[in-house]
Order: sequence, then structure tokens, then C-alpha cells
Amino acid sequence: MRALTLVADRKLELVEAPAPPPPAAGEVQIRVRALALNHIDVWGWRGMAFAKRKLPLVVGAEAAGEIAAAGPDVTGFKPGDPVVMYGALTCGVCRACREGRDNLCEDVHGLMGFHVDGFARDLLNLPARLAVPVPAGVAFRDAACAPIAFSTVEHMLFDNAKLQPGETILVHAGGSGIGTAAIKMAKAIGCTVITTVGDDAKAEKARALGADHVVNYRTGRFEGAVRKITAKKGVDVVFEHVGADTFNGSLLVLKRGGRLVTCGATSGPSATINLMQLFQQQYRIFGSFGASMRNIRDGLAKMAGGLLPVIDTEVALADFERGLARLESRQVFGKIIVHF
Ligand SMILES: [Zn+2]
Repeated sequence: MRALTLVADRKLELVEAPAPPPPAAGEVQIRVRALALNHIDVWGWRGMAFAKRKLPLVVGAEAAGEIAAAGPDVTGFKPGDPVVMYGALTCGVCRACREGRDNLCEDVHGLMGFHVDGFARDLLNLPARLAVPVPAGVAFRDAACAPIAFSTVEHMLFDNAKLQPGETILVHAGGSGIGTAAIKMAKAIGCTVITTVGDDAKAEKARALGADHVVNYRTGRFEGAVRKITAKKGVDVVFEHVGADTFNGSLLVLKRGGRLVTCGATSGPSATINLMQLFQQQYRIFGSFGASMRNIRDGLAKMAGGLLPVIDTEVALADFERGLARLESRQVFGKIIVHF
């Protein structure tokens, strides 16, 4: 079978690998059908000095597939069932796992495709508890966006920021994989959505997704634009993942008591914040990383109801690296899918 492995920084090799053994008790064997790319793939590909991992490593952090075989005691899955995979090897027994707060597992054994072998291979064995059924009618390429993109946005908007119908939200980088999902999910519950993009072509596409106001951050400051749009009131929620370039401005455009939720820092990891402003304005800041299994199920249910991810491009497995380069260049609008 094929496996796409990272052998050195920025060096991928598509190799022939032995197929996995039949699934053991508690496992399923999954035939991968589609991958979706994320910034975590770009970080892993560039190389990160502090990441504890050994090369070569099978890449691919977000995927959908179908059950090829189920272990002897596994019920609930049969060959041919479409599934997506929870990509962190949680312990399944700690308090956080038992309570469904999977992304706070106290004994997580790494992120697949980053710390340990990932999904860019034809077949793999996985604990059955980490497989999530895909509802009928959802295509593999869409389902592949559920385990990271859709679930991260679910977790940020609804578990952390507790976004309510009728509120106003600023979504940064509205052309990104998670930005496009955030626009669609916030519009679906009746929010007013302001978003930022880096060029006019993306502005048109963001409007087509339902964004009420689109700010080109290259031609004007988003802080002033948001103040004008909200008649100086500010927004209820900011959806952050840009980091150093926008973080302070994001706090500035919040209403008193507003919520900022962040899951990334693509422009840089450090910001200085004014603590007087933080407590006087009663801001609430949420760090968000990953999602729960429930968030994945909720995201898939939205897809089944017609709220689909925005797909930028689809590439073949051999062109994975080209997909990463496109993601790194920030030319994308939506998700990049790798099909098998
Ligand atoms: Zn755990």
C-alpha cells in the first residue's frame, strides 16, 4: 500500500509500505478516501525543533475513509461504513475523556500526522472508539473536513465563545478553511458576520458565503471599519487565529463583556495586552485547541443538513506537497482536499 512519509524538513516521499495486520480487539481497519490539509500539516512539513517525534513519519492529520475490517469484538461498524477519525490518540479512560472533553485528555499519545504516523496511507488500524460514523449523503471530500476544520470551529464558536443568534461576530481571515466554516456556521444561526480578507477576489467570495460586511485588511484597518459598521458599539465575539498582527485590534473592537476566542497565531505567537483594558472592559479570552468527538458529530450533522465546507482545490496524493505550498502561500479560499 502507499504511504506518504516525511523524511526530512520539507521533504516528502511516497513509498510502498506493508499493509497493517488484521485489526485487533477494539480496533477497526480503515481505508482512507480523502484527506484535508491544515496549518498543522504545514508546521510539521517545515519542521519544528520542539516537536517530539521521529522521522520518517506518515503525514496527514485530517481524513475520512471507510471501514475495511472490524476487530473481533467491535460492534457498531461494518465493512463499507464511512467514517472520520479523531486524530489525537487520547487515552479514553481519564476524567476528561470520560466526560467527553477529549481535547483535554490528560494522557494523550500525540497528534496523528504530526507526532505519530497519520492518515496519508491507504490502510491503517485505529481504536474503534476514535472512529466517528459519517451520515448518509455526505461525500468523503466534505467529511474529511470534519475532524479538524469543522469541529475546531464548532468548539470555538459554541463551546467556548457561546455564540448566540443575533449577535455580531468578527471572523478573521474569512478565506481560510476555518474562516469559511465560521462564516457559514455563524450565519446559519442568524448572526451578523464581519470578516477580513486579503484581496478583493476573496471579498466577493466571502460575501457569496453570506458575510454581511467584508474588510480588505490590506487596504484599510479592520479596527476602524468595525467601529463604523457597528456604530462604535463593537462586536460580541471575535474569532481569532491570526495572532500577533491582529490580536490587540481584536480586543479593541470587542464590546464591553465581549468574547475573544483564538485557535492560532499564523502571523506570530506574541502579543502584549493592556490589563486595565482587559478587566475594565470585562473581556473574556478563550484559548481553543482541537475539539471533542461530539464537536465532530455535530459538524457532520451540519454537513448532512446542507452546510458544506468550502473546497478550494483537490489534489492527488502525489501532489500533497503542492497543496501544502498553496496553503502556506495563503492563496486559498477554503479547504484543500487530497484524494486517494
Ligand atoms: Zn484521556
